This record gives sequence, C-alpha cells and structure tokens, in this order.
Amino acid sequence: MKTLRALLLAIIGVFAAAQAQSNLPAAAQKAMKAIDAEKIRATVKYLADDKLEGRGTGQKGGDMAADWIAAQFKSYGLLPAGDGGTYFQNIQFYGVTTDPAKTRFAFVPSAGAETVLKFADDFVATDMTHSEKSEIDAPIVWVGYGINAPEYKWDDYKDTDVKGKVLLMLVNEPPSNDPNFFKGRALTYYGRWTYKYEEAARRGAVGVILVHQTEMASYPWEVVRNSWGGETSLLKEDTDPKLKSAGWIQLEVARKLAASAGMNLDKMMQEANSRSFKPVELPVKVKETLVSHVRSFASRNVVGEVKGSDSALAKQAILYTAHYDHLGIHPDEPGDNIYNGAADNATGCGILLELARTIAAADQKPKRTVLFAAVTAEEQGLLGSKYLGQHPPVPAKNISLDLNYDDIEPLGEPQQLVVTGAERTSVYPLVEKVAKDFGLAIQPDDRPEAGHYYRSDHFSLARVGVPAFSVNEGALFKGHDLAWGEEKERDYVAHRYHQPSDEYRADMDFTADAKLAKFGLILGWEAANQPTLAGWQAGDEFEKARKAGH
Ligand SMILES: [Zn+2]
Repeated sequence: MKTLRALLLAIIGVFAAAQAQSNLPAAAQKAMKAIDAEKIRATVKYLADDKLEGRGTGQKGGDMAADWIAAQFKSYGLLPAGDGGTYFQNIQFYGVTTDPAKTRFAFVPSAGAETVLKFADDFVATDMTHSEKSEIDAPIVWVGYGINAPEYKWDDYKDTDVKGKVLLMLVNEPPSNDPNFFKGRALTYYGRWTYKYEEAARRGAVGVILVHQTEMASYPWEVVRNSWGGETSLLKEDTDPKLKSAGWIQLEVARKLAASAGMNLDKMMQEANSRSFKPVELPVKVKETLVSHVRSFASRNVVGEVKGSDSALAKQAILYTAHYDHLGIHPDEPGDNIYNGAADNATGCGILLELARTIAAADQKPKRTVLFAAVTAEEQGLLGSKYLGQHPPVPAKNISLDLNYDDIEPLGEPQQLVVTGAERTSVYPLVEKVAKDFGLAIQPDDRPEAGHYYRSDHFSLARVGVPAFSVNEGALFKGHDLAWGEEKERDYVAHRYHQPSDEYRADMDFTADAKLAKFGLILGWEAANQPTLAGWQAGDEFEKARKAGH
C-alpha cells in the first residue's frame, strides 16, 4: 500500500509539475536550457583575471569591467537602459578617508581629566558630511538602541531633543523570541548600524557612537576597524541629513566612559531593553576634531533591457541584479594585493550575463520588460544599487520583482536553495513551485539574527518597495553529504572571502551557477507573465514603500 501510494503521489507530482510549467511558452524552456555553465566560467575567468585588478569602485579595473559587461549586453542585442541612450548610469561619489594622525577624539567629563581615544584601537569615525575638517564639542546622550519603530510601539527617543548632540547607542535591537516583536530572533532593519546613523541624522544629531559588542554586531572589532579604517564612499547626490561623526567604540571604552559619568554600562544596557527607557544626558562631552581626505570620483551601473512582448505589460518590468565591483587593488599591501573577487561577485555577473543572453535570444519574449543591472559599489555599502533604486529605468512601483545574485560558489550541483526574504513577498508560492520543479529544497536562513537580508543589493530595491531577494545555494550538493558543503562554506569564509585568494580556479564546477540561473530564468519569466504585480505580505516593513508608489 505504502509503495502504491508513493507511486501515485510521484505520478501526481510529475503531472502537477508538468502542468505548472506549461504556463510558460516553449520559448522559456528553450531559453532556460540554453544557459551554459561554461559561459559562466568564461565570464568569471575574465572578470577575476589580475588584469581587472579586483574591479575596485573608482579604480581602472572597475571601469574595465563595466565597459566589458556593456559590450556583452550589446552583443546579445539588449537595449540600453542607462543615461542618454547608453548602457551606463553615471554615478558621482565622494571618497572619505579619516586621517588618524590629525584626528583627535576625547571624552571630557564635567569634572576631572579628559580621556583621549586612540584611532582604530579604541574608536573609528567617518565624516559623513564629506568635509575636510569637522569640529564637535557636544554633550553625549545615551539613547539605548536608538530606535523609533511605531509598528512595534518602540521609541527610544521619546521627546528628547538631540539636535547638535552626540548619541551613544547600541547596535542591534531589543532581544526577543516573540516573532511579533522586531521579528523575534531575526534582525530587522532597525537593528542595522546604517539605520541608527540615518535616524540620528534625521533628528539633527551631529554624531553617533555605537558601542561595539561582538555578539550583538555578529562580527568582531577587527571587522569594524578594517572596514572603517579605509576609504568610505558616499553618493554625491544624497541629500539626506548626515552626521559629522559616524563612529564606533570598543565595549571596554564604553564601560570606562559610563564609569567616568558615575554610571554603570551593564545597568544602562539592561534599562535599554525596556519600552519605558528614556534617553539620559551624560555629564561628559565629546571634543572631536575629525580630519579627512576627500576625493571625488565617478563609477557606473551597467543597465540593459529586453522589451516585454505584451504592449500593456511592457511598461512594467522584472529586474535581475548582480554587483560587478569588488575590493580592487591595495597597492600598499605586500604580496598578492589584488582582490580578484571570483566568487564575490564574478559568479553573479556570469549568471546575469547568461540570463541576459538567453532571454534576449528567445523567439518569444516575457510579457513584462526584463531589466538587467550589473551594479557598482556594493562593497562600499550597496551604493550602486541604492542609486539604481532611486533612478530605476522603469518606475519602482512598476517593477514586479528583483532577483539578485551575489557570491554563488561554483561547487557542483546544489540540492538546496537559499532565498531569504522571498517568504515576505507575494511570489513565494511561485518560488516554492519552481524550486520543486528544479528539485531544490528551500533551506531556511540558519542565522536570521545576522540580518543577511540587509546586506546585499536586493535590499536597496526593497527599500523603494520592490519585492526583492537574493538567490543562492544551500549547503547540500549532489554526491556529497551536508557536512561536505558546510565544510566548503567554512573554508571559503576563513580562507578566501574578501581576501586576495578569492581567485578563479580551473577545478571550479559551475553547475551550481547554471542551475540557479535556470531557476531564476523560469521564476523571473513566471513573474513577468503574472496578471498582477508582485507585492509584500501584509504588515511587512517594506509594504509601506510599495504602497507609497515611488
Ligand atoms: Zn558580494
């Protein structure tokens, strides 16, 4: 009986799958089958070559990559979707580097001696107003988590006027396992440092000091020091209010600061977990002279499109994104100083190009227009995609879905799919169906508290309301057990991720990348042909932006 039932279910399954796929024209299946793992290999081999010098934003290699991707788009017959009939969106940036020798940062208590902090060891700070020199002499206000989230009835600021002040705050969000309170264990955008800086600046604060705690930030102090020690890129056109000093301090430094104010940091952190928390002004001032090197440079997003086949729906679009930039070349470092970024993210570019090539060649096109964007400055804080979200070739309200590809390690044939955030959108049933057709099990995010959803380019599109998520592989691969895939992942993070050793190797198996490209082609085509635009689940944090209709 059991076998018969299994057999029947299998037959029904095959039938259902066949029926589900039959919604798409034969052209879609043909395009999907034309996706070629070896073409993805060729792209990765080229983009990760030393000649491209790690594709740094504002560096020669980054510009070469953009020109090359545009040439590929052209050769496929994609229409230009950039500025003035080109494939490019020109973006102006500031590059800001804090000068550690000329920068001075001190805590000055109302009584007693000042404490001068040591740059990189004790604190880091960046001038987001891109001034060569900013002076701050302002009281410190402790604001707990620095969050105002009406939907969770949480307001750390209450009615406190923080204009002209420096705010001391925690990263992350109040701890909870209640899914209705800041999504439980999972991190919401309110927990990210980017939000904290934005909110403080909106309220007129001049500076923010984030207290670093390894477990709360989910990365050690070295990561803060390395990523804030070098150049920070800022979008020139960004007119949002900005902090003169956006910084972090070590936990132990914060402890001493609290003690110098006659307070106890542990107790303060405990009090911050309460809804009735109120900001406290410390009897300590920040005296800071922040000196920066500021330069201007330009970089480009590369955008092309395939016009939709349905005259009405062609005004709407689906979007595929992948960042082409990586960390570039670091001339001052000894040895191999080219950050080739083979996995991160020449792989995503290889997938993007195969999607573009095969969809452009299809003898019948999807009903909605299909946009392809290779974006810049992801490693600088998702800036290229932020620009794309604010200047989309098709209005954001008419973009049904963004599928993003970032860092798909070429490890063979994946059996699992990671699509974190997809469950928050109305296309999720479609995602489940297509995943099943491809024999891919959806693997839930095993570390929701790390807030991965807010760390790649799809997030920039979500912020303007576009249902968006990244497509990646899980840890289970054909012919291997789960432990093998997990070990590969650990090995990559420890030995290659964001290091010069993330290089192309001949033994890479691009089956993974081809499979995820095929999955994305079918999913995207289905979304492009759906009668209505995709949206967010009711109550989702991005639903508001979608309804506002940018
Ligand atoms: Zn990446």
